[in-house]
Amino acid sequence: MNYIGPEAILQKKQEYLIPCVYHFYKKPMQIVRGEMQYLYDHKGKKYLDLYGGVSVMNAGHCNPEIVEKICAQVNTLQHTTTIYLTQPIADLAEKLSEITPGNLKRSFFCASGSEANEGAALISQLFTKKSKFVAIEQGLHGRTKLTMNLTGIPMWRTDPYPSGNVTHIPAAYCYRCAYGLTYPNCDLKCARRLEDVVRDGDFAALIIEPIQGNGGIITPPPEYFQLIREILNKYKVLLITDEVQTGFGRTGKMFAIEHWDVVPDIMCMAKALANGTPLGAFITNDAVASAYTRPGASTTGGNPVSATAALATIDVIENYRLVEKAKELGDYFKNALNDLQQKYRIIGDVRGMGLMLGVELVKEDKIPAFDETDNILEQLKDLGILAGRTGISRNVLTFQPPLVITQNDIDHLCMVLGIILSKVSDG
Ligand code: PMP
Repeated sequence: MNYIGPEAILQKKQEYLIPCVYHFYKKPMQIVRGEMQYLYDHKGKKYLDLYGGVSVMNAGHCNPEIVEKICAQVNTLQHTTTIYLTQPIADLAEKLSEITPGNLKRSFFCASGSEANEGAALISQLFTKKSKFVAIEQGLHGRTKLTMNLTGIPMWRTDPYPSGNVTHIPAAYCYRCAYGLTYPNCDLKCARRLEDVVRDGDFAALIIEPIQGNGGIITPPPEYFQLIREILNKYKVLLITDEVQTGFGRTGKMFAIEHWDVVPDIMCMAKALANGTPLGAFITNDAVASAYTRPGASTTGGNPVSATAALATIDVIENYRLVEKAKELGDYFKNALNDLQQKYRIIGDVRGMGLMLGVELVKEDKIPAFDETDNILEQLKDLGILAGRTGISRNVLTFQPPLVITQNDIDHLCMVLGIILSKVSDG
């Protein structure tokens, strides 16, 4: 294959793509091949991928067991839409009802996380006959008209005409508490703020990521979701959890909300659901599902290829114990990052669960180390390691690797990161 190379791609991108299509790195590479936790550029350089296409490739790039089943399906039947009966969509819906918590049972399939959240918002309005939403500052829910308005992170809100239906409340961001308080003495004021908002309103639902991904791996304390659930129950407002980044083993549970032992009314998923094949879904209980009876087809949602990819992905996650692996390796990884924090003052905070980890980089007085984060990300890439960067100030180095990584991969990253930090950090 003759590759045109990154410069030529950048030129085409600049000429033919809408400028909002965003990429990482001052000197980007052309990625041409993937193999489990590795990516390769057009010159054959190998990269250890610790970002997984933003929490997508949980079962690894081009996992042969998944690829084989996708290819068999593509060769047999690619598409019909839901007006004809096909088996993979039905098998997948049954499987999701088995692996999601509590009484979540009925799924709707679409093609992306934005659509899943949009659909969840719609069904919550149909069920409650109420119109407004609560969302969280620093949350990200998509780029459609409504999901952009549900999004709290300023960088991802470009809509100049936001709808007035959404109220944002502070995130459980203990490292920089919106109220200047400290956990646990804060009495979870950020969660209690929900009651002030929903008390007198016409609210259909709260939408929330169990752990905020793009917000900077914001991980709420243990009591948080029980309290949120109590307040929502009291005012008959639905709980929608956006598991688009956190789902399918990422955090050391199949779904992250299980860490808090809470069952949402609606759960949204995409990304890792079909290990990179476009597919989104929301799943809900019988009662909420019964509110959506008008025809609501999604042309490619739940098509045989994507549904087969999802079934194969879930098989791999179960057969190779990737949920347990994410927990074990995640604990090891977090400890190693905590060790680095002891050595380098630039690491202000280490947070996350399983293989969804964030390292917040700061200067004196917790000033976000924006340029340093940029620099570290670029150096890691040059040394063959891909990480992410999140947070409202873009100063959180983020790791969401394929769950098939090894302890050696983590040791390698920590060794390389230590060398870089020893040059960037003042001790
Ligand atoms: N929710 C979350 C938590 C996300 O991270 C994203 C994408 N980054 C979305 C929703 C939107 O998903 P998609 O890009 O598939 O529309």
